[in-house]
Amino acid sequence: MKKYTMSPMTLIALALLVALSACGGSESNQPSEQGVQQAPQKVYKWKMVTTWPKNFPGLGMAAENFATLAERMSGGRLQVKVYGAGQLVPALETFDAVSQGTAEMGHSASYYWKGKTRTSALFTTVPFGLNAQEMNGWLHYGGGMALWKELYEPFNLVPLAAGNTGVQMAGWFNREINTLADLEGLKMRIPGIGGEVVSRVGVEAVNIPGGELYTSMQTGVIDATEWVGPYNDLAFGFHQVAKYYYYPGWHEPGPTLELIVNKQAFESLPDDLQAIIEGAARAINQDMLDDYTARNNAALDELVNTHGVELRQLPDDVLIELNRITQEVLEEIAAEDAGFKKVYESQKAFREQAIKYHKISEQAYYRARELKASD
Ligand code: CA
Repeated sequence: MKKYTMSPMTLIALALLVALSACGGSESNQPSEQGVQQAPQKVYKWKMVTTWPKNFPGLGMAAENFATLAERMSGGRLQVKVYGAGQLVPALETFDAVSQGTAEMGHSASYYWKGKTRTSALFTTVPFGLNAQEMNGWLHYGGGMALWKELYEPFNLVPLAAGNTGVQMAGWFNREINTLADLEGLKMRIPGIGGEVVSRVGVEAVNIPGGELYTSMQTGVIDATEWVGPYNDLAFGFHQVAKYYYYPGWHEPGPTLELIVNKQAFESLPDDLQAIIEGAARAINQDMLDDYTARNNAALDELVNTHGVELRQLPDDVLIELNRITQEVLEEIAAEDAGFKKVYESQKAFREQAIKYHKISEQAYYRARELKASD
């Protein structure tokens, strides 16, 4: 068998080729690396319109927190300027402004848009419905978000859950509510399905943006109002215009706030910036709830002990009747509106399961921690 050998010249030529190719590879890599580093990064400068007074505690600050977070997460590539209610468009034109592209984003509550589609109310809150924890579960792991996206698609909007206040208060009144008849004849600010329910017991239910509520109460445009809970209601000073502060917020057990994004604007973003919007929305969705959880307690204490607010619980009879009317209203709308029915049934099924489990978990624990030997 012939032994294969290489001449010294061949070995030198091969060594040179290897050295040259290594050198050439190195040289050709350098310009491309520098090219990537030098490519200009597109900066997106967006506008966000909101339903809240600029920098309003909780609600308004969630919008600001979103903008700060999105800018930091994107290294400055996504800059969002937040406008308070009335600064760019009036509070209740947020939906249209984002739908039409006047602003790329909006922060608001979907139940304000029931004039566009009644189904939208289900994505904020339903009287005697899901609490904050349950809303988050339904939206993110119970099919809710897919239904919400489908509902807003024809309006050219992409919705995201972006905040929750937790269970609210029933509202501010200048008369005691001992029976349903005491509600009759009141002109009250109460949006969403809660408004439809009380209108059946003789309340004239209206929706007024938060920033106009104090003056509306003071001047007698309305006789009663609900807003949020101690933290926000103290900020507006409702204790100066109403005597009784009622609980529980049967009509808003865990309202979700929304971040709406113009669909073309969202789709024009690279994938990482879309993910940043989704991630920042998810972060403020939880952060707002944490803010209310931390601050409602001290605010209630101040309202009652410093400002002398009369805290009252709605009587069981009143709550039972309001619950009965709520189920009647929901079934009626579902019978008339197939789109509403689809979302309502998804939520209703989730609610039934949540009630069963929360009876032996959250509810049992709340009871357990209050138990005393004498009980
Ligand atoms: Ca409210």
